[in-house]
Amino acid sequence: MCFRYYLIFIFIVSGPLYCYADKLPEEIDVEIFSGETIKKLNFTVTHGRYLVCDIEHNKLLELTPFSSITLERKGNEFIIIRNDTVLFAVGKITLQGAAFHNSFLVNPSHNDLHVRGYDGNLTVKIKNGRFSLINRAPFESYVAGTVQWESGFNKHDIFYQVQAIIIRTYALRNLNRHNHEGFHLCDKVHCQAYYGKSTDKSIIAAVDKCRGEVLTDINGNLLNTVYHANCGGHTLNSEDLWAEALPYLRAVKDEYCSGMPGARWETSISSNELRKFLQQRFHYNPGEDEWKGITGFRQASRKQFLDDNELIQIRHIREHFGLRSTYFSITLDEDGDTLQLEGKGYGHGVGLCQEGAMQRAKQGYSRKEILQLYYRNSTINYLETEFTW
Ligand SMILES: [Zn+2]
Ligand SMILES: [Zn+2]
Repeated sequence: MCFRYYLIFIFIVSGPLYCYADKLPEEIDVEIFSGETIKKLNFTVTHGRYLVCDIEHNKLLELTPFSSITLERKGNEFIIIRNDTVLFAVGKITLQGAAFHNSFLVNPSHNDLHVRGYDGNLTVKIKNGRFSLINRAPFESYVAGTVQWESGFNKHDIFYQVQAIIIRTYALRNLNRHNHEGFHLCDKVHCQAYYGKSTDKSIIAAVDKCRGEVLTDINGNLLNTVYHANCGGHTLNSEDLWAEALPYLRAVKDEYCSGMPGARWETSISSNELRKFLQQRFHYNPGEDEWKGITGFRQASRKQFLDDNELIQIRHIREHFGLRSTYFSITLDEDGDTLQLEGKGYGHGVGLCQEGAMQRAKQGYSRKEILQLYYRNSTINYLETEFTW
């Protein structure tokens, strides 16, 4: 299945939000391979020309297309190797694009990581014994790459435009999130998955068609454009899952996603495990009747709590057991030990339902209609790019 479920699962924001913006940045600094332990990598130019500069902006080397260098960590520094010869030992470098369009590949020497391609510049340093890589990417290249990783290939043009608008908005609203670490966003799912530039012409064209467009309220404030793979038929109010009630994140009925890959799921968990979790996390030991209620738990429409006393929010069960959604019902097996879970949807259920939006795009809905359905009273606003030079 090509649909990649790299979704925004977390609503926690550490830095101050950019709730109002009247311009888009020309470039964005994204930490790539975030959280990965990379000790050696190859850098290859695929387009343009690169200057390898040290911390004082002195040019150490110049790289032309298809030439590459190897960087290998040595203590708190790293060495630059070219054609098997060690040329420099440095603490930090910038690989600065020097042509009109510059792109490169990073190939880490790491079993679980694959080569990735990016546009723009790359700053390399050692942080906590491993490489820290910051890609200064053209903002719209970041948006297109993220659309590809968050929504996959072969989708409708209008769906890609919808994704581009909400991804652009989310990135802009969270631009300060990693300020204290010296970059804007990382490439993990809470900041949106960005595992390289887009390689798909139809995604790049769709992103370009809605260039500069963001989603705001009527006063021009950026919306928190959260999304998930499949709502299971009903989205949630923001306060059903998180603390804040946002007027545009309201529960809506959605019949369009029902036949899609993320619509239904099944799994089983051990009843002892559930009892143990309820005890340890909530100091809750359900009595016989309460346990009967839990083991026969049903959700005809979405509920927030597992128990009648409203002690246990279902989202904690989802998090602990790694379930696809909070929208599930429970049956106890005859053996009395196993709980069968039958669920609907995939993801947190707040904001836009990707598979519902995909189906609506195919049925001829406009991007404005799709966005207004999942984000109530929203407006598409065009922002100019702020050029820094
Ligand atoms: Zn992040
Ligand atoms: Zn849906």
